[in-house]
Amino acid sequence: MADAPRHGPDADTPSAATAVRARLAADRADTLAEAAALSREYDGIVAANALVAVDDEHDPEGGSTAFERAHVAALLARTREHLQELDRALDRLAEGSYGRCEDCGNPIPPERLEIRPAAATCVDCAASTPHRPPYPA
Ligand SMILES: [Zn+2]
Repeated sequence: MADAPRHGPDADTPSAATAVRARLAADRADTLAEAAALSREYDGIVAANALVAVDDEHDPEGGSTAFERAHVAALLARTREHLQELDRALDRLAEGSYGRCEDCGNPIPPERLEIRPAAATCVDCAASTPHRPPYPA
């Protein structure tokens, strides 16, 4: 029976890495499409706003347009952040450090990677992120 091809001791479950890569790539494609859609939406809001802003300084809807623009900008920023997260995960996968916490170096539990394939830190480190204090300053 030849159902287990031998690649020697260095064959570090290549099928698992391939599955992770496929998940990250699919997520990346979705995120790229989302970023493009948000970007178009943002441009649309800006363009529409530029048209009415000429003689409409007292437009009662001006405030909500600004709010909508800020909201879309925030979504876009988060989407791009996630894209970078995915790129870093793909890099780590390529260099063999994927699945290891960037902060403490401990393995990230598979259950966490199952939910967040792009996770760069373990749950403990994510919970105690230094640049995000638990209480407002
Ligand atoms: Zn950690």
